[in-house]
Amino acid sequence: MDPANRLDAKADVLISAGKIAAVGADAAKQAPREAGRMDVSGLIVCPGLIDLHVHLRDPGQTAKENIATGTAAAARGGFTSIVCMPNTSPAIDNAGTVALIHERAAQNGVVNVFVTGAITKNIAGEELASIGSLKRAGVVAITDDGHCVQNNELMRRALEYAKMFDLPVMDHCQDYSLVTDGVMHEGYWNTVLGLRGWPSAGEEMIVARNILLAELTGTRVHCQHLSAAGSVARLREAKKRGVPISGEACPHHFTLTDAAVAGSEKFWVTDGKALNPQPSTLNLPEWPAYDTNFKMNPPLRTARDREAVLEGLADGTIEILCSDHAPHCDYEKEVEFDYAPFGITGLETELALSLMQLYHGKRLSLPDLIAKYTVNPARLLNLPKGTLAVGADADVTLIDPNREWVFARAETASKSANSPFFGWKLKGRAVATIVGGKKVWTEKAEAVAA
Ligand SMILES: [Zn+2]
Repeated sequence: MDPANRLDAKADVLISAGKIAAVGADAAKQAPREAGRMDVSGLIVCPGLIDLHVHLRDPGQTAKENIATGTAAAARGGFTSIVCMPNTSPAIDNAGTVALIHERAAQNGVVNVFVTGAITKNIAGEELASIGSLKRAGVVAITDDGHCVQNNELMRRALEYAKMFDLPVMDHCQDYSLVTDGVMHEGYWNTVLGLRGWPSAGEEMIVARNILLAELTGTRVHCQHLSAAGSVARLREAKKRGVPISGEACPHHFTLTDAAVAGSEKFWVTDGKALNPQPSTLNLPEWPAYDTNFKMNPPLRTARDREAVLEGLADGTIEILCSDHAPHCDYEKEVEFDYAPFGITGLETELALSLMQLYHGKRLSLPDLIAKYTVNPARLLNLPKGTLAVGADADVTLIDPNREWVFARAETASKSANSPFFGWKLKGRAVATIVGGKKVWTEKAEAVAA
């Protein structure tokens, strides 16, 4: 299944010298006799998945994650390429840090690592980073992710520079004056729980700003991790007018809602019903109220927002799926909700959750879903990836869309365990991940090792 070439057929894939050598019914016949063979009958063979929103925490925060553990988690999730965010310590705002990550990724990474640079120096939102030198160092986009440039004039200049260097700009959409110190969605549940609210308007305001500036400058702006119905509506309207704007969504925002912060009992009898239509709550995952693994930025929102994000994915308004994989140590998350850092891990669960909500939920065809993890992010960032075309790097993911499995804390390859999905029964997963013709992860090998 190769959405870039509109291919969806039973076929063999021949890999030679790290490249795709042939695809088709007779591709196997072209293989030399000594070539290794993998029986993939019944599986989806697709271009290696790309996650364009990952926090690898290297340099500076390697207690949370490092390039070895982050790329291992990516491989387990079926990802052959990941794009890391620049909010490390120090921030990736100069050519030297970009080079350091490229070097470490070549040494310790098991999948391809692409790097984004910061928009502003030290991600402080005050002064532009040296965008030209970041481009020369090989960044694929710029973003202040984790933060958001508040000064609209500065953002305009960033877009103008980015256009000169043909770099897409990705933005974490958050208006600080509206959000202030909000820790969860502002609505019914934050009032019940006594937690400070993060209103949807805080996201929509910056999505609207980005649409205006994309229109003004002609630079492509990509809105990261959209969570609110109003953001999706604005994006849909702007795209219709031809504004160079795009968006991405993360599975937690279209699986969970803010009711989850009130605990599993409240969630399953309210918004959770959409995931589990049977009246019984037997054997469903449990968690307490105020569980900080349900705290992320932007926050989980209402059932209406969840539905709007799903609709945006279904009608093509949102073209890209990603995790916003954001590892944090246990000791950082095991504090009061107010004090915990935002974010959850996601590389190992995002494919299953996307398959469940979009494919098994009958909102998207499998090729359309795979496109949101392959050709679409590759096109946005001009990556030479995301296709099984002859001559392309042999990055391949094998998927069993119907495989049922439970995500267990003991099995995660990430250094951190801040996922809300431990104990969840999931459906669909990658069973092998191949990077440059080399198997970097297979479910079978793991079963044997265990
Ligand atoms: Zn972000």
